[in-house]
Amino acid sequence: MDFSLTPEQEALKEWAHGFAEREMRPAAAEYDEREEFPWEVLEKAAAIGLLAYSIPEEYGGSGVTSLVSNLVIAEELFWGCAGIATAMGGIGLAALPILEMGSEEQKRRWLPLLADPNHVRLGAMCLTEPNAGSDVVNLSTRAVRDGSDYLITGTKTFITNGGIADVYVVFAKTNPDAGYAGVSAFIVDGKSPGISAGKKFKKLGLRASHTAEVHFDQVRVPEENRLGPEGMAFIGAMKMLEHSRPTVAIAAVGVARAAYEFALEYAKERIQFGKPIYYNQAISFPLAEMRTKIDAGRLLAYRAAWLADQQKSCNLEGSMAKAFCGDMAMEVTTQAVQTLGGYGYMRDFPVEKWFRDAKIMSIYEGTTQIQKRVMTRLL
Ligand SMILES: Cc1cc2nc3c(=O)[nH]c(=O)nc-3n(C[C@H](O)[C@H](O)[C@H](O)COP(=O)(O)OP(=O)(O)OC[C@H]3O[C@@H](n4cnc5c(N)ncnc54)[C@H](O)[C@@H]3O)c2cc1C
Repeated sequence: MDFSLTPEQEALKEWAHGFAEREMRPAAAEYDEREEFPWEVLEKAAAIGLLAYSIPEEYGGSGVTSLVSNLVIAEELFWGCAGIATAMGGIGLAALPILEMGSEEQKRRWLPLLADPNHVRLGAMCLTEPNAGSDVVNLSTRAVRDGSDYLITGTKTFITNGGIADVYVVFAKTNPDAGYAGVSAFIVDGKSPGISAGKKFKKLGLRASHTAEVHFDQVRVPEENRLGPEGMAFIGAMKMLEHSRPTVAIAAVGVARAAYEFALEYAKERIQFGKPIYYNQAISFPLAEMRTKIDAGRLLAYRAAWLADQQKSCNLEGSMAKAFCGDMAMEVTTQAVQTLGGYGYMRDFPVEKWFRDAKIMSIYEGTTQIQKRVMTRLL
């Protein structure tokens, strides 16, 4: 068993860390405060291939296809700013179902658009609906056949890059009576008539990312944009989530690590009662626990990703990693705020932002409870 990164992974880590430190960290507080989309940062990321790093080279991406290597990059980006990293991640999230379920022709047509280094094109993956969140099979968006096309009608909510995306992957029912076997997925051009942006949500954290409702009103989509056979997309969505969960787990690790590192340095410098607060076990023991939990989370996430890289199922392990890391990020960031005392509560320091950002990790791409449902089915 080898716990070290390969030289190539070390280089990817340095690449992503450098970008996070140079471009994301200095911009994070301002985008968070203004709740503004970080176009400039995304343009810089696109230019160096860091927006579409998971897209294979033959489709114009940077070709980081190993999931472990993807995790190495994602941890650094989420260490930089979870809001900006989520905005960037929306592209990879839209690319994932195309990679998992798409034909060669679909990959050649759509992935290079998302990977264009000179032009930021946003992707959005539309699964969630107002009345179908955890219970995704219950979605009510319809795709009705019209000759060789489909007409898509329905409302999607909480969509990252929703309403501003160039490419949507939309999950819709082609047969409402067939349960999960009635779900199909479609690639939808963002310029199609009938798509309209709904409400943009104001959020607790991840404020640099754009989360919104999207309405589809009789949106015409040609049959060739359907991903995989009709009625097979639910299985594809589950496969997609199986592979994206380790990434959310490592995102939680990135946020937790940012808070832990800051709290550690602060504890060594802050003098109370004539000595650094670090020399109180009530402060230093939690720091030791934070570090332990962060490392445990990373190892769980890496194991799940490693299984995926071996073409093995990581359903149980990915859910374990995501559930553990979501809670872990909340515990670590809460303790980081406590370590800074009143300063931790103030916006003058970044810790309150990490605390706000951490909460999402146990919600999006399947809540902690849903991960436990997945796990208990497999135990
Ligand atoms: C910032 C943000 C970005 C997002 N981006 C996207 C995106 O790009 N694309 C997309 O499709 N979706 C996206 N989502 C949606 C996200 O995946 C859902 O919010 C999530 O899956 C939960 O669904 P829900 O909010 O409807 O909660 P609900 O399903 O209503 O759940 C409410 C609570 O009940 C619990 N619960 C539900 N069912 C059970 C059960 N059977 N057993 C135990 N507990 C249960 C849940 O765990 C949760 O605590 C995003 C959400 C957020 C907040």
